[in-house]
Amino acid sequence: MRRILIVGGGTAGWMAAALFGKLFQGLYDVALVESEAIGTVGVGEATIPAIKKFNELLELDEPEFMARTQATFKLGIEFADWWKPGESYVHGFGVIGQDWEWLRCHHYWLRARGRGNAPAFDRFSINTAAAKANRFMHPRADMAGSPIGQIAHAFHFDAALYARYLRGFAEDHGVVRHEGRIGEVRLTADGDIAGVTLDDGRALDADFFIDCSGFRALLIGEALGAAYEDWSHWLPCDRAIAVPCARTEPLAPYTRSTAREAGWQWRIPLQHRTGNGHVYCSRYVDDAAAEAVLLANLDGEPLAEPNRLRFTTGKRVGAWTRNCVALGLSAGFLEPLESTSIHLVQSAAIRLVRLFPDGPADPATIAEYNRQTDFEWARVRDFIILHYWANDRDGPFWEYCRTMELPATLERKIDLWRANARIFREDDELFAEESWIQVLIGQHVIPAAPDPLVAIKSNGEIDQFLGNIATTIDRCVSVMPGHDDYLRRYVAGATAA
Ligand code: FAD
Repeated sequence: MRRILIVGGGTAGWMAAALFGKLFQGLYDVALVESEAIGTVGVGEATIPAIKKFNELLELDEPEFMARTQATFKLGIEFADWWKPGESYVHGFGVIGQDWEWLRCHHYWLRARGRGNAPAFDRFSINTAAAKANRFMHPRADMAGSPIGQIAHAFHFDAALYARYLRGFAEDHGVVRHEGRIGEVRLTADGDIAGVTLDDGRALDADFFIDCSGFRALLIGEALGAAYEDWSHWLPCDRAIAVPCARTEPLAPYTRSTAREAGWQWRIPLQHRTGNGHVYCSRYVDDAAAEAVLLANLDGEPLAEPNRLRFTTGKRVGAWTRNCVALGLSAGFLEPLESTSIHLVQSAAIRLVRLFPDGPADPATIAEYNRQTDFEWARVRDFIILHYWANDRDGPFWEYCRTMELPATLERKIDLWRANARIFREDDELFAEESWIQVLIGQHVIPAAPDPLVAIKSNGEIDQFLGNIATTIDRCVSVMPGHDDYLRRYVAGATAA
């Protein structure tokens, strides 16, 4: 085991190259092949807070990273019109209120709500309250007990600039880049991948391959024949149109997702432009209508021709097959509703480092990698399905979603929640209880009753407890700086450098 070849230079390829270059330098020869003529998918600009861990692993300087990728801060996602038109809520990162005795805050809130006496639920998240006020600051380490110490953030960034930035990083760490179009994937006699041959005849051989070739899945799918598990009966959207537009003021520190007739539209604010896209189901709306809806709902002038994409939601069966691991779109696709794809690249790359073989991989190692991957993908899938299923919208698409049969894993979670508002994070599934609680309440899946233990507190005590949290968060937000100002000052030094 000496030579690793990464096939593809989109976000997935360069993330893998940066990580392996940094960790494996001197141990393995890492190379990457990509084709400028083929290009990348060119979207994928919203992240979740775990991306900070990836940047820390690479020891990236945050202001420099943000300056180089035209990034903005992200506190959460606003879901507009998802439950029904005119209603919106925010899935804010980080904590919700605070626990009291045995129970999480939402139990007390549900009890107060039952009496018609609860402050709006979004007042219990500093992230949500700050997002709605367009304010941002980093958490203060010296204020761990205050909401100001609990602010959690991710980023929006320009996908092309991010790949370019990571390319520079990877090349600085010894990764060798080859430019060219792969015409043939060659196999060994026993069926492993031996190498690839470019259209100009150059042969690139390696011992281990990372397939980052995008939807085409050149190695894992076309060459090795690993099957694809189709999840489109749960996540039926199959197309997207993306278009950037001029940025607007103020710069929002959150992604907006607005439900449409047969899908939804994203808005991702960056420093130099706003990213927009319409994800839709071609069974219920045609391409021309979907494009018209997108263009009619931009905040500013469009800056480019629309980019049209097709996909099938689902996951590769055996993301690690033989001497090849698929990362990114070749491993599967979950639509970007909760900004999880880049995270799935990151966590898969880290998982691979943890299980990296020292020779031909043994079946137990491969099985463990695939077991962890399957678990992670299925739980993220369930979380995304929840947004679609719990709707009170009109139209055949939404009716289909509302009445579809759910995966048993999700149904179990919803049943438990509906009984007494209980929710438990299972093993190391990606989304924590706070995320599920916000989306369940935001989509109006209201439990029959809170945990019966709330009865240990009187109504007066509960009102005081909730009132204190809501006013403390209001006060904290009122002293936070505006996102625009904070960001400008934060990246100023890096930009000048
Ligand atoms: P690609 O970007 O397609 O890269 C494939 C690479 O393979 C390219 O370099 C190409 O040149 C190369 N290649 C292919 N064939 C050959 C060949 N024959 N020879 C040589 N090279 C070849 N993720 C998020 O986390 N947040 C989001 O907000 C988000 N939004 C999205 C919105 C949409 C509509 C879509 C479709 C995806 C979104 N994603 C998002 C997912 C995200 O874009 C991808 O996970 C990410 O960009 C990884 O893509 P990739 O690198 O796997 O593939």
